[in-house]
Amino acid sequence: MENHHADTRDAVRQLFDTVDAISVQGYDQELKVVYWNIGSEKLYGYTADEAVGRTLDELIIPEHMREDVVTAHRNWVISGVEIPASELTLRNRNGEDVSVYSSHVMFRNASDEYEMYCIDVYLGDVKKAQRQAVSKDELLNSVFQSIPDLFFLLTEDGRIIDCHAGDSQKLYVQYEKIVGKHMVDFLPEEVSAKFKVSIAKAIAEGGVLSLEYYLDLPIGRIYFEARLSHLSGQKQIVVIARDITEAHEAAELIRKQAYFDSLTSIPNRLLSLDRLSQMVKEMDRSGEKAAVVFLDIDDFKKINDSLGHEVGDKVLVEAANRLSSVVRDSDTVGRLGGDEFIVLLGALAESFDAVGTVEKLLGAFREPFTIDGRELILTTSIGVAVFPDNGECATDLLRNADAAMYQSKEAGRNTYSFFTKQMNAMILHRLEIEEQLYGALERGEFEVCFQPKINLRSGQIMGAEALLRWHSSVMGTIAPDEFIPIAEQTGLIVPIGKYVLAQSLACLKSWGDGQDYTMAVNLSPRQFRDPDFIEFVKTSLNASGVAPDRLEFEITEGVLLIGQGCVDDILKGLHGLGVKLSMDDFGTGYSSLSYLRQYDFDLLKIDRSFVAGITTIKEDRDLVTATIAMAHSLNLQVVAEGVETGDQLDLLHKLGCDVAQGYHFSKPIPANDLMDFRLVDTCIPGG
Ligand code: C2E
Ligand code: MG
Ligand code: MG
Repeated sequence: MENHHADTRDAVRQLFDTVDAISVQGYDQELKVVYWNIGSEKLYGYTADEAVGRTLDELIIPEHMREDVVTAHRNWVISGVEIPASELTLRNRNGEDVSVYSSHVMFRNASDEYEMYCIDVYLGDVKKAQRQAVSKDELLNSVFQSIPDLFFLLTEDGRIIDCHAGDSQKLYVQYEKIVGKHMVDFLPEEVSAKFKVSIAKAIAEGGVLSLEYYLDLPIGRIYFEARLSHLSGQKQIVVIARDITEAHEAAELIRKQAYFDSLTSIPNRLLSLDRLSQMVKEMDRSGEKAAVVFLDIDDFKKINDSLGHEVGDKVLVEAANRLSSVVRDSDTVGRLGGDEFIVLLGALAESFDAVGTVEKLLGAFREPFTIDGRELILTTSIGVAVFPDNGECATDLLRNADAAMYQSKEAGRNTYSFFTKQMNAMILHRLEIEEQLYGALERGEFEVCFQPKINLRSGQIMGAEALLRWHSSVMGTIAPDEFIPIAEQTGLIVPIGKYVLAQSLACLKSWGDGQDYTMAVNLSPRQFRDPDFIEFVKTSLNASGVAPDRLEFEITEGVLLIGQGCVDDILKGLHGLGVKLSMDDFGTGYSSLSYLRQYDFDLLKIDRSFVAGITTIKEDRDLVTATIAMAHSLNLQVVAEGVETGDQLDLLHKLGCDVAQGYHFSKPIPANDLMDFRLVDTCIPGG
């Protein structure tokens, strides 16, 4: 290669002159530049004018290489040892590195001197691309390492080409066991089918698809979310799978909280009613019957109040378990709230078919409940409404089952009742009462009557109890036991109660006779929750000028159950005004004694049901005897209500009862009659 002709060289030089992508430099024997093409100028920054005449090493060879270059060149000239082509990092005019692939040729020129030609191809771009590739690789690796997702590269037909997992544990299988395999070989059928569908879709439509699936692994069920996209160039599928078990469990928990009762884990009211609606629709379609069973644990409040909420909670959990164990899996047992449960029995041929299950539900309570080592005897009252006979929609069925349940309570509890036409009439009656109750006050349909109370020591009338009467223009006279609970539920009791108080104070004021008669007024729970109540009593008392201690409020235990804080405040407030407090219907509730100790009562009224039995039933007499003794020990006056006979009166007098009221003396009478009321002498025992 050294013996080329000069003219050939010129032709080659001419060619190189125009090439700017390759640097071609010619050097003489002293390594001085004799040729410098445009490509060299571009690569190294020196113009031909600047370069020609200077030596190779001072132009483009970095200091540390200079000696080697000079030596290698000399070796070539003297001993014919070629300098091999190689990758080199040289230097440009600005002192910056220039990476090149350099090839070298040695010529003998016309004057028989050696000329070396260097042909340098710029490698900077290639190097950069290589560096980028390496760093992309590193980046990808560190991404794989640091994020929890699993990466899979698949062929379009679902064979695994490669996979990565930052934490190889997370792959749950050995890498070698899946690479090269087809999805269907190691994924459950449904899961690989899901993938197949998504892959087909990704290929057809492009974009990123996501799918969820779970795998039952030795460590348990793991939920995954996979994102899948098609690399159309490579005809490959990228799958990124993420363990979403935690998120899934959280979502499941939220769903549970929304639809399941946190205490008993059975469907809550929301889900139960939803299932009821669902069942109604299904039975409507299939033409079958269904039963809605409403259960209420008898005297559950008693347990809560006497044994505490924790015991109450355990009872509810046990009750839910027992009820659930009695029904078929397809039936629903739900908790509507408090101690109320619902059972939905679907697909019945006859309403009678529900009887067996209902009896089992009742029987589920037969065994005593053992809670914290204590045996509790519990019963439940059940009401049943049947679709479609007793209602065609969820609301009607539920209401009617509820009504039937009340029937069971009335019948003495621990029993079941099916909804009947009579109950329906009762419900309609209630609805009518409610309708008529609105506006009754404005229409002047209420009247307050007064029942005299007799002091058994003096034998004299000493006061009266105000009892409300409603003469409805549409329905005639309606008893308070019927309309008071409805007035209570609707809140109408608040204005009505104010009316009763006003009438009672007015009566008391005009009821002179030089006596300080007292007036007892009944209060119901709803009135307690009226924030203006105390203030209203105060202004009314002031306006009437009646001494506060002549006014008594009668309260049943129901009032005390609305919440201790609230009751405390109001009872204290009333006491602060100087009015008296009386515990009404004593003996019908449950923890009366503890309430008597807890709150500051002045009087105790023995319920008329005990007075009725006092002369004939030993238990009633014993209870009245004990009550009087206990009340006196707590400094309470005892009033007996519902005294109907002279024998009852005699006995009560003997037992030390302080006050009596009842038909024996007088029925409740209008205010005018009260003013004229005189006791018939023979009413009073002994003297
Ligand atoms: P209560 O406070 O226990 O009233 C006594 C009930 O016994 C009254 O029934 C009275 O008429 C009745 N009674 C009195 N003497 C006898 C008797 O010798 N034999 C029998 N069998 N019964 C007798 P009433 O008037 O029907 O009132 C029923 C309940 O309605 C009352 O029970 C009371 O809880 C409630 N109530 C009445 N008026 C009002 C009121 O203005 N406000 C509130 N919140 N409740 C009222
Ligand atoms: Mg009363
Ligand atoms: Mg009473």
